[in-house]
Amino acid sequence: MVLSAGEISFTRDADRWAVSEVSNQSTGYCPDVISWSAVARALDEAELGRPSGFTHEVVFRRCPNCQEHNIVREDDFVCVFCDGDLPATWNMDSTA
Ligand SMILES: [Zn+2]
Repeated sequence: MVLSAGEISFTRDADRWAVSEVSNQSTGYCPDVISWSAVARALDEAELGRPSGFTHEVVFRRCPNCQEHNIVREDDFVCVFCDGDLPATWNMDSTA
């Protein structure tokens, strides 16, 4: 089971490595923004300095009408392909 996915970059902070940028921007897995908790836990276990959340959040939704994958911008939960409504909650893991 994939807990999260995205892009990450590191910086040298005094005598240790720390995360400078981290996002859930993975168009393959399209993880929910709440997957940050899994990322934070993994970074803490690796003893890496980190921010308090994703430095860049991507909101993914699958359109229930046309099934296309959307990136929601500015809280506009409308499908860019068919103008259908997108759900408020993450649904990239279902096919219903
Ligand atoms: Zn659609």
